[in-house]
Amino acid sequence: MTAGGVVCNILQAVCELCHCHLRGPAPCIHSRPSAPSAASEIMEQIVERARKAFATGKTRSLDFRVQQLQALKRMFTEKEEDIKKALKADLNKNDISSYTYEIMGMFGEINLALEKLSEWAAPRHVEKNLITMRDEVYIQYEPLGVVLIIGAWNYPIVVLLQPLVGAIAAGNAAVIKPSEVSENTAKLLEKVIPQYLDKELYPVVNGGIPETTELLSQRFDHIFYTGNTNVGKIIMSAASKFLTPVTLELGGKSPCYIDKDCDIDIASRRITWGKFANCGQTCIAPDYILCDKSIQGRLVEKIKETINEFYGDDAKKSPDYERIINKRHFKRLLKLMEGENIVIGGDNDESSCYIAPTVLADVKPDSKVMQEEIFGPLLPIVSVGSLDEAIEFINQREKPLALYVFSNNKKVIKKMIAATSSGGVTANDVIMHFTVIELPFGGVGQSGMGAYHGKHTFETFSHKRACLIKSLAMEGMNQIRYPPFTEKKLGWAKFLLMNKFNKKKMGLLLLPVLAVIAAIVIKKYRWKLTGRGLQLVLAFQTFFLSKTA
Ligand code: NAD
Repeated sequence: MTAGGVVCNILQAVCELCHCHLRGPAPCIHSRPSAPSAASEIMEQIVERARKAFATGKTRSLDFRVQQLQALKRMFTEKEEDIKKALKADLNKNDISSYTYEIMGMFGEINLALEKLSEWAAPRHVEKNLITMRDEVYIQYEPLGVVLIIGAWNYPIVVLLQPLVGAIAAGNAAVIKPSEVSENTAKLLEKVIPQYLDKELYPVVNGGIPETTELLSQRFDHIFYTGNTNVGKIIMSAASKFLTPVTLELGGKSPCYIDKDCDIDIASRRITWGKFANCGQTCIAPDYILCDKSIQGRLVEKIKETINEFYGDDAKKSPDYERIINKRHFKRLLKLMEGENIVIGGDNDESSCYIAPTVLADVKPDSKVMQEEIFGPLLPIVSVGSLDEAIEFINQREKPLALYVFSNNKKVIKKMIAATSSGGVTANDVIMHFTVIELPFGGVGQSGMGAYHGKHTFETFSHKRACLIKSLAMEGMNQIRYPPFTEKKLGWAKFLLMNKFNKKKMGLLLLPVLAVIAAIVIKKYRWKLTGRGLQLVLAFQTFFLSKTA
């Protein structure tokens, strides 16, 4: 075998990473032919057009960004019915849940960006030291350039277009790649987005793994990816070719600890809602419950009652219960149930990709369902003897995207937060931290890197440029940094660099000095401190105080 063949075999082995549980085998990005294919030329042209449009500088104008955001908002108003239809076809989402989970979330982000854009984009002045006290020192947020946003299928609108809001607000061009798995929504977005947004700056690219792979071979200024952890590694590896920064919004197993000292009825209702909404296909759904064995029976009973209340006797007939996205995921989920103690649900129907809300009791930590993110309507309950045991259980595993803790005792909640790590935490509820637009949303460790929502999205897609505009005056001060170096200069450098400039303090400090200077001048020129002379001193003092106030 040639050396090239060996290298290729090694690369193929590395590419086995692509074979993740959440999707089928992916073609290897390393085995792509070196000659540019038609697809790669198309992708190159799309990115090139976006880059040229960005280079015109039109996105630098805040008015232009506002106009694009308003157009995006108009799209959601005018195409609301089409969006709901596409979501129904992809995930069996009903109109109300489509509006609540997808459209409303978009309005929230767009409205905030419209309201705050000028504040976010304004230069942020920072504290100065004595060396820079006469200079302008500030952070200027500037666009990164052409960014790539890759979305996932489970909330195919928000996970794709909420990042876009921040990308537009920050003044970038963005190539938008919807998930091919939620194909109806993807087709709709490809059709409607160009009707509202600038076509060159915000192109939509549809396609599967080959197209995404081609896109990833292009140069971007930032890649924002939402999806599973294994593909996240592929994204990061492709980005490294151009040292492109990435935001990875990934998944994982989000634990939910229920303390014995807790209102089980309320906890059950909140958990049932968060676990079975969107048929469990929510990245921050509680993946499994950790609790003392003594409360398991009561919990199961209450969850059962709540499922009945939410979805009726047969969730299959409920207009509020979604479906598994496709047969591959359906089969994957059935495998996870095998050999488990099913205490609620378990019934299913392959033809409609239906799996009932299901609870598994007495689940062993080493069982299959505890080895991977479930991403479906199965809720395992694992027994732990104490809060410390729960903390140890969580810390022995990868850092999750979300962590939930239910307790009446604030100390328990605070201890859980202090002793563990996760992308986000909600106590005494689930999912809800996602809805607080001021909080950064993102993972840590294997559950992702970077964060977004509201201002955090704007910052994700901005470069924080450090700006110092120096005065050409006071050259004498610079003697301390020019050679020859002396101990005296070092002393001055320490004083000037290590002391922060505080206008008020400086004013008070300089007043006696000014008084002495004034006295010398008055004495030298024998000014009489009456009439014009006094007026002059007072005017100078007022001016000085106004500058230092
Ligand atoms: P998916 O199959 O839709 O894939 C996401 C995107 O990655 C798609 O656009 C797809 O084209 C692209 N892709 C897939 N395989 C690829 C490959 N081999 N090379 C290049 N691109 C590829 O979505 P998924 O991964 O099944 O989504 C589910 C996962 O996403 C879960 O783990 C869930 O927790 C996570 N998720 C996270 C968030 C978050 O905000 N953190 C939100 C939603 C979903």
